[in-house]
Amino acid sequence: MSSQHRSPVYPEGFTGVFDTHAHLYDERIFADAQNVLERALECGVDTVMIPADNEETSRTAVDFVQKWDGYKGIDLYCSVGVHPHEASSYTEETERFLTGMLSVRDKYKIKAIGEIGLDYYYDHSPRDVQREVFRKQLKLSYELDIPFILHERDASQDCIDILKEAQRDGVLLETPGVCHCCSCSAETAKILIGMGFYIGFDGPLTFKNNKKTPGVLDICPLDRIVVETDSPYLTPEPNRGMNNEPAFVPFVIVRIAELKGMSCDEISDITRRNGKKLYRIE
Ligand SMILES: [Zn+2]
Repeated sequence: MSSQHRSPVYPEGFTGVFDTHAHLYDERIFADAQNVLERALECGVDTVMIPADNEETSRTAVDFVQKWDGYKGIDLYCSVGVHPHEASSYTEETERFLTGMLSVRDKYKIKAIGEIGLDYYYDHSPRDVQREVFRKQLKLSYELDIPFILHERDASQDCIDILKEAQRDGVLLETPGVCHCCSCSAETAKILIGMGFYIGFDGPLTFKNNKKTPGVLDICPLDRIVVETDSPYLTPEPNRGMNNEPAFVPFVIVRIAELKGMSCDEISDITRRNGKKLYRIE
């Protein structure tokens, strides 16, 4: 039987959970947005950050928050920025657009720049362009004093080099942001944590064949862990193979609790607190 025909399992017994990364404007979710939010609330997820990946999704993320924020009390936030996949689309006009949005960020609940970074796995944009666009948005983050959401895949060395260069030049915030969907080694994660980053854990941590991410969790201090779904991607067990949605983020908490030898309530509280600190939410 294909996964499409299984019924999803929903987590129970959670409250006050913060999904720090969900692309709710994605067409796989958007058409069903109301039900997705209802299910999130039923599963105890009451705060969600919606990250963008280009100019268009920056607008749709903002629109989504405008439309749905406060629905049955749900607390929604968003980011604006250009993903490394889309680096080729970044122009001076894009930068003006981002700066314009960020100048009215409180009005639109924009809490970060992102996703930004490097992706050498897919190489959807030339690497030199990715690096240039990453540097430009890093600079914006510093100048406008707003954290960023880092996307890094198979580009750890260049990523660390660029971040260190920014630090040296004095253009990296003390708490720069979050390494979202951490897929790097524990060694790289250590360097990022040393630079002040939070580390985002999601579905892959629950995959039985994943030996790498538990190693990253192991070296990650409790006060730097945040949980995320990356909806509609990276669905955690036991729903792997289906579309992801914020309602499933407690399954990541279950796995962290197991690996850290703590209760789900504790991990839920800690990750919520961390998420709010990261995105400077009062
Ligand atoms: Zn994402």
